[in-house]
Order: sequence, then structure tokens, then C-alpha cells
Amino acid sequence: MKAGFSNFIHNKKLLLAAISALVLIVTAAAVLLVVYINKNKLEVTAPSADLSVQLSLLNDVSSSDVMITKYYIYGNHLHLEGEVDGAKYPDFSRMGLILRKDDGSEKEIILDCRQNDSGTVFFTSSEYINGGICLDELAEGDFCVLFKITDGDRKIYTSTAALYDFDAVNYYTVTKNGENRLVNLGFTAYSTGSGILPCLAIKIEKTALPGDIYDIVLDAGHGGGDSGAVYKGYEEADLTLDYTKALKKELEALGLKVKMTREGNEKSGTMTGSAAYNKDGRLERACLSGAKYCFAIHFNSVSGNQKTKAHGFQIYCAYGADISFAQSIADNVVKSAGARYSPQEFSRVAPGVYIRTFGKKGVEDSKKIAKQYGYKPYTEIKENTTFYYMIRETGGVATGAYVDGRSKEFDYNGNESRNSVTGLEGYLLEIGYICNEDDLANILANRDAYVKAIAAAIAKELGITNG
Ligand SMILES: [Zn+2]
Repeated sequence: MKAGFSNFIHNKKLLLAAISALVLIVTAAAVLLVVYINKNKLEVTAPSADLSVQLSLLNDVSSSDVMITKYYIYGNHLHLEGEVDGAKYPDFSRMGLILRKDDGSEKEIILDCRQNDSGTVFFTSSEYINGGICLDELAEGDFCVLFKITDGDRKIYTSTAALYDFDAVNYYTVTKNGENRLVNLGFTAYSTGSGILPCLAIKIEKTALPGDIYDIVLDAGHGGGDSGAVYKGYEEADLTLDYTKALKKELEALGLKVKMTREGNEKSGTMTGSAAYNKDGRLERACLSGAKYCFAIHFNSVSGNQKTKAHGFQIYCAYGADISFAQSIADNVVKSAGARYSPQEFSRVAPGVYIRTFGKKGVEDSKKIAKQYGYKPYTEIKENTTFYYMIRETGGVATGAYVDGRSKEFDYNGNESRNSVTGLEGYLLEIGYICNEDDLANILANRDAYVKAIAAAIAKELGITNG
């Protein structure tokens, strides 16, 4: 009994030791895994501010009242939305975003505000997803983002209410005169004489553009076995590639760094249909490019008796976008490439400019298609979600990019580039109708005029005056 009992104790001790060792190993492995995942996930860290600067510059900031609810970069604009408890500001009249530089100077950007009945103030840096704070226009230096609230006669500086969990970002400005700046953004805790202030910090410095970062992505529609529209032996996939290559040359002559989603008619299978969503598909190629803009080039076609009537140029933008850039591209093409504005009324928001969304039917259809092909539908598509995937999926959170389960390679949140706080400002251009004789003749004869017109509008938008 005794021996047996002590044996039991002994064995139990061994067992406990073994269990402890196992727990330790599992814990260590879990810690290492978390560190590994975080290391990969948080490659970009927020700027850290210089303490000597913080103490002197932030002594007029006594509160942290601003809740940030939306934070993303679309194209080259930083977009911020949030709210402030109005109870602290009974005579609230306006609110500005303050970029305070490390030398004490500041720049104010007035925010769009509205107040509800209970006094809560909602603000946005722009009503448009491609508006707000243009990161390419900011000077070099260290900045912290503050908010200046006018309340009656008082002007109060306040910071963000928390160190928000939005990803820190490394944004590279569009190449101008061969130069780029790195804009590093993220939430940082600043020390002041009286405590800690959570702030959005921005650090901007000159840098060379890394090899894998581009200014612009061009997507030649279709290809890889998908011919797209076909008429009289002309295939859309060939025309899009031809136009895209010519546009790339024009943009490169302006000093821009351009990435193509396809360079040839690859039969790799990553180009067409649902394969666009796969690893190394055209979406991932665009999303990982670090580019600010994506232009997808297409040619239109219809069948039946619409053939002769349907004609003209169309440019599609994301829901919520300011259309002035798209309008200038459409106007340029009509003015100098012999093109016509498309008479199509469906989804039209201005001459030649279109915003197509899912609409009620589109949302229902997307569920049916998912059922038909046996993948999980995405439940957050709304009627106003941008319809064309090349615009929607490359825009990050700004355009409600999603993964709907059609790709076996990514589950719902598998591809982070699609839930990214940085998105490409996307446009889809339908150059003309190849089934329309006048359009087709102009498309075949005037390619260089088309791409020059498009490139000129891009140069103007980006403020590029020389090559
Ligand atoms: Zn097409």
C-alpha cells in the first residue's frame, strides 16, 4: 500500500511535471505564433514623436474629445470621420482639423459638421471618398493631428479620444519630377506636461520609391482566354492590351511609375472570371502595387437592334466619389479624340460619367449566383455598393471591398489588402462600342489621341506639368 501510494505520488509528480512542461511548451509556441503574426501584420508602425517637441507644442491641448469612426486613404486623400459629444460644447459653431508641425506652425482644414438633436457633432473631412486631406500636398516634417473646436467665443484644441486600432500606414506620394515622399501615419501617445495625449501622428520625409511600389495600375480588361466583346474579328482583350500599353508609355513619359495587371494574353488562368479574385489574380496584383490609382480599360458591345444605336465613351467611378476627375477624362476624350459621350442613361451621373451600383436586383442576383456556384455570399453588399469589382475590390474599406467566398484561396477576411485602410482610386473606362461602325473606326484610327487625352487629364489631376 505504502509503496503503491508513494509510487502513485511519484507518478503523479511526474505527471504534473509533464503537464507543466507541456503547458509551458504550448504557451511558448502560442506566444511565438502571436509575435510572428503581429510582426507580419504590423510591418508598419506609427511615427513616434520627439519628446522635447511634444512638451512645448501640446500644452494648449487639455482634452481628448474626438472619437474617430472612419479612417482610410483612398487615392491620395486621407479621409477621417468621427464625432464629438456636444454637451461639452453648448455653443458649438465649427470644427477644424489642425496639422501641427514640429516647428509650431499649423495648417487648418475645415471639417464638414452636422449636429443631431441630442447635441452630438458628426464630422467628416469630406463628403466624398476621394476628398479630404491630400497627402501629396503636405510638406515634409513631423505633424500631429489636433482638432480646433469653436464654441461661442472659445477656441478649444482637443485630441483624439483614444489610440485607435486602425492600421498604421506607409503612403508614398505620386512621383513628381522624379521625387517621392514617404508619409507615415498612425496613432501615437504624446506626452505633455500634464499627461498622455492620443493623437494621429504624421511623419513626412523625402524618399526613393521602393521597387515594388507604383503610382498607377493599368488593367487591360479580359485576356487569358477570355476575349471579352468580339466584333468582325476584333477582340476586346487585344484592344484593351493595345490601348493599355500605349497609355503606359504616355504616363511613363510624365515620369509616373506604372504597373500593368497583365502584359500579354497569358493563359495562366489568373486573369479571367472568378480567378481575378485568386492569389496573383488581377485584383491582388493591383492591391499589392501600392499605387494610388487604378484605370481598367474596356470596350463595349451590345447585341440585337441596339447595335447601331449604342455608342460613345463611358467612365465609371466608385459610389461616393467626387466625379470631377472622371469628368475631365471624359471631356478630354470627347474634345481631342473624336469620341462621343455615350447616350446611355442607366447609371449616368454626368455626360460620359457613370456610377453603377448593385441596386436591389443586383443584391438579389449576387445571392443567386453564389448559390448557383456554391460559394458563400457576402452579406454586407448594399444597394449602393459599387458594382464593378475592379473599382470596388481595389478601393479597400472606402469602397466596401469584400471577399465573397468565390475564391477558394481566401476566406472572408483572408486577403487583408481587400480590407485595407489604403485603397486605389478606381476608374473603369469603356472606350467605345466596337459593334458600332463609327466608334470602331475611331477606336482603330485614333488610339494615340485617346491615350494622350486620358494621360493629359491624369497629368492635370496630379499636378504634373513636365515629364
Ligand atoms: Zn470588358
